[in-house]
Amino acid sequence: MNAAVVSATLALARPEVAPLPAYNAGLSSEAVRQRYGVTEIARLASNENPYGASPAVARALVDLAARVGTYPDANCTALRAAIGERTGVAPECIAVGNGSEDILQMLCQAFLSQGDRVLTQRPAFGLHEIYPRMMGAQVELLALTPGLGFDVDAWCEALARGPKIAMLANPSNPVGCMFTAQEFERLLAAAPAHTLLVVDEAYYEYACHADGYPDVLALLQGRAMPWIVLRTFSKAWGLAGLRVGYGLASDAALVQLLDRVRTPFNVNHAAQAAALAAWGDEAFMRQGVAETVRLRGVLVQRLQALRGVRIAPSATNFLFLDIGRPNGPVNEALLAQGLITKPWKEPGFESFIRVSIGTEAENTRFADALAVILEVAA
Ligand SMILES: *Cc1c(COP(=O)(O)O)cnc(C)c1O
Repeated sequence: MNAAVVSATLALARPEVAPLPAYNAGLSSEAVRQRYGVTEIARLASNENPYGASPAVARALVDLAARVGTYPDANCTALRAAIGERTGVAPECIAVGNGSEDILQMLCQAFLSQGDRVLTQRPAFGLHEIYPRMMGAQVELLALTPGLGFDVDAWCEALARGPKIAMLANPSNPVGCMFTAQEFERLLAAAPAHTLLVVDEAYYEYACHADGYPDVLALLQGRAMPWIVLRTFSKAWGLAGLRVGYGLASDAALVQLLDRVRTPFNVNHAAQAAALAAWGDEAFMRQGVAETVRLRGVLVQRLQALRGVRIAPSATNFLFLDIGRPNGPVNEALLAQGLITKPWKEPGFESFIRVSIGTEAENTRFADALAVILEVAA
């Protein structure tokens, strides 16, 4: 590489871009197979659904090859109508994205300029911090309580200071904790009317099983402030590979602003067809979610028996574990057995790993392996 060309390139870039952290997407199954020489991989790092998508999705995709020559519907008309019907939100107040992360990016591009203030949590879903910083915004990160929950008082205080955007995942990724209905009402009472509230409900379908989980959409409807609730087909609906997320917004003007900044054909044919088919088989989704919630309980019980492991309360399809020692070597030992989890790397969380709830067999393999690793290292 020519050093002069590199420095010219770097000088041309927007100053916000080079310092951004790379999104930590984790290791691929293939990389783990090759590096560790293992054959049986358990993917427990990305909160994917081990049961995949409804069989209706495969049927919807069979004639896809015949359609690849035409552009997809730029407005996702059929999908927005279907989502509108079940959620009770008008289609013109619904945004669809190439994953909900696409909508997070659109929101930042449409609303944030240099110096704007954004409020979110630490640790959080990486893009809640990365996209605002990409636009030059100042991101305030609120800490967890000692019990690994949301600090409701701190959130209310910070909201009252009037950030331009408040991004909160309910429940949280990576922690799994949630604001209850009562707590969420306190947040709403503290939030000024000129703050855009972004509630990321990527784990909504799992959290609906948790006592006290708020119906945020109902609480927001009719409130005199802008808001958007983000949900995704990547987790409970089993479509992570096709990239579809949606946003339910306070008003059509918000969606029209997102339309200005998005790529026109952001959701491709396959994604639209698959999401529509999956949405039509709600029973399949519910069955997988119920099984995952049950298996989460089994895994929690098993891990509670391990000395020195602390488990954050979870309303999701994953657990955030404090293993009480640096996570790097433990992660290496898990990878050597084909178990891919996510060791947290942010300062203060280097003793945490996030593990997705897999099949019963995968969870057992993980718990057995962790028990041995922690015992040997003790
Ligand atoms: C998984 C996840 C997403 C990403 O969803 P996509 O629709 O796959 O882009 C968004 N937010 C949170 C909190 C997540 O955990």
